[in-house]
Amino acid sequence: MKKEPVKVKEASAEIRVGNFAEVVQGYSEEEALAESSRCLQCKNPLCTSGCPVGIDIKKFIYHITQKNYQAAYFTIREKSNFPSICGRVCPAEYQCRKECILTKKGSPFASEQAINIHFLERFIGDYGKNNNLNVPEEKEERFTKFKVAVVGSGPAGLCCAGELARKGVKVDIFESLHKTGGVLRYGIPPFRLPWDILDFEINYLKKLGVNFITNFLVGKAKAVKELFSEGYSAVFLGLGAGVPSFLGIPGENSCNIYSVNEFLTRVNLMSAYKFPEFHTPVNIGKHVLIVGGGNTAMDSARVALRLQKLKGYPLNTTVIYRRTEVEMPARRLEIEHAKEEGIKFEFLVQPKEFIADEQGFVKKLICLKSKLGEPDSSGRRRPVIIEGSEFELDCDLCVIAVGLKANQILINATPDLKTDKYSDVIVDSESMESSIKGVFAGGDIVGGEGTVIEAMGMAKKAAQSIIGELSGR
Ligand code: FAD
Ligand code: SF4
Repeated sequence: MKKEPVKVKEASAEIRVGNFAEVVQGYSEEEALAESSRCLQCKNPLCTSGCPVGIDIKKFIYHITQKNYQAAYFTIREKSNFPSICGRVCPAEYQCRKECILTKKGSPFASEQAINIHFLERFIGDYGKNNNLNVPEEKEERFTKFKVAVVGSGPAGLCCAGELARKGVKVDIFESLHKTGGVLRYGIPPFRLPWDILDFEINYLKKLGVNFITNFLVGKAKAVKELFSEGYSAVFLGLGAGVPSFLGIPGENSCNIYSVNEFLTRVNLMSAYKFPEFHTPVNIGKHVLIVGGGNTAMDSARVALRLQKLKGYPLNTTVIYRRTEVEMPARRLEIEHAKEEGIKFEFLVQPKEFIADEQGFVKKLICLKSKLGEPDSSGRRRPVIIEGSEFELDCDLCVIAVGLKANQILINATPDLKTDKYSDVIVDSESMESSIKGVFAGGDIVGGEGTVIEAMGMAKKAAQSIIGELSGR
């Protein structure tokens, strides 16, 4: 008899919009066993080909069916350092689950019937965390005389540091913000990724001997070449893509129009949702508009809705996207959660001009309707404006979430560091070494806006190359 997918427990929409607690509750042991028993243990499993770091998914699921959770944990850890994090944030519906044999051929994303690989990974990641499992240290005396500088404490930096520290290399992580974690802390809200999950991983690195230096902007406080003269044997750049893109339309400089970075940083990193207990406010409005269709837009919308609820305003947050729902790059789960929570969507709509009041505060957004035309270079159909389709939306707070680019501070201060036309750092795709010998890079600073697992995959490769290089010295 065909077994139905095991649904994961979630906080109800009415309750969760009033707080920042985690929405998805994860599988119990019984549920994980039931879901794992649906896996067909395919002869040629396609799921692994969909995983950016090639986790042996069939094997770890098999171990779950045998209740051998420890073996399942170590199977995942062969390829991924942070299963509890990836099990929560990986866009599995576009990756492993999309390739699962149970997804209908030709679907743009995973079918409901596909094995819930991400929830199983989360179950195992949390099991590892709760039982203090970790891959054994492989400290070697010959590496302990070296120190490596890691710039940036996002998933790329954390992963590279962990790999090096396990071998005995001394690692200093330089982070420009006052808190560590990169986007995992300041971008992804705690109702998707609770901070204790991230803190657990960071504390583990500290136990391994990794040293965190916060409030330190490399490229200003110290140049990359100074790091070498201070005795670092190699430098890893995990700078991320922290600079927001804007629409470039009239009125965009009006008050209460935020870039996605500022909005999420204020709320997540500076606890604006607890103002005045914390000193950073967000002047949430009654008519909130979010422009964009990616994860950053979904996170902003769901944060804004919660702020409206906490303020006692009616829930009125609308996402404006220039294509249709099918083309939205956001995770399907986040889109569904946003809809359940009451977020409205205006598809095939493009902003034209913001209108502000006499004090300069945004009041309205003039929009244009569009239709889908021919596919662009990304393969997605291009939105084409419909002439004369202008209409207005009320707006007293807007978040622009239309893309992120590489931060140029360190790059501009490092003239020999070669970059591509998007200003991303160019590396050798095998070694992850940049145009400067001994300087490696990975994560969003290399591939542009990507995913957590992709950033970790690149960082792991870079760490292996650094170890290789240190072995030869
Ligand atoms: P980051 O996480 O950006 O970390 C870079 C760090 O480097 C930052 O802390 C920054 O302050 C620091 N830094 C930069 N320059 C310097 C310098 N010169 N000196 C010192 N420190 C410096 N991916 C998913 O897989 N699933 C999701 O659900 C998802 N949701 C997302 C939601 C949001 C709001 C955003 C913004 C991104 C999301 N992503 C998601 C993408 C994912 O978070 C990124 O691909 C990933 O964080 C990239 O990791 P990174 O380590 O390269 O960079
Ligand atoms: Fe299991 Fe799907 Fe992978 Fe087959 S493709 S082994 S059913 S997860």
